[in-house]
Amino acid sequence: MKRKALFPGAFDPFTIGHEAIVRRGLALFDEIVIAIGINLDKKTLFSLEERIKALETLYADEKRISITSYSTLTLDFAIQSGVNFILRGLRNTIDFEYEKSMADIHRKLAGIETVFLFSEPEYASISSTLVRDFIFHKKDISTFIPVKK
Ligand code: ADP
Repeated sequence: MKRKALFPGAFDPFTIGHEAIVRRGLALFDEIVIAIGINLDKKTLFSLEERIKALETLYADEKRISITSYSTLTLDFAIQSGVNFILRGLRNTIDFEYEKSMADIHRKLAGIETVFLFSEPEYASISSTLVRDFIFHKKDISTFIPVKK
């Protein structure tokens, strides 16, 4: 059986913290689908097109990664994509409670297990929110944004 994981998120923007989770996920899964969840109630700084483009460029040479977006529940999108796992990163205890309830729902209603990777210490304080704050205050964000190798 191929091990296929969904890595869902807003990725507004995709940071080196997200990239580290994907890199470690590639050691566990045959394929990773990075999926941008569209939440019409939430305004994003980067448009969907910008976020997709950035990811497509970053992973252009990585055949085991695909990029997509969805506007349904993550539950329904995971079933529809035929993944057997959901990949999520955990930074701190604030992430924990929410992630636990989502993982319970995905296991119970779709039989899909969520695999959590603890953030490496150097990435634990990096978030899309922090990057957006830096942009707002006209600070350089290049150290937080992954570059294609
Ligand atoms: P969401 O709105 O679904 O939380 P995010 O784009 O904020 O979307 O995050 C997507 C996933 O990446 C989540 O599992 C989140 O915990 C994880 N993540 C975000 N930043 C980091 C980081 N610095 N280290 C590890 N995991 C992270």
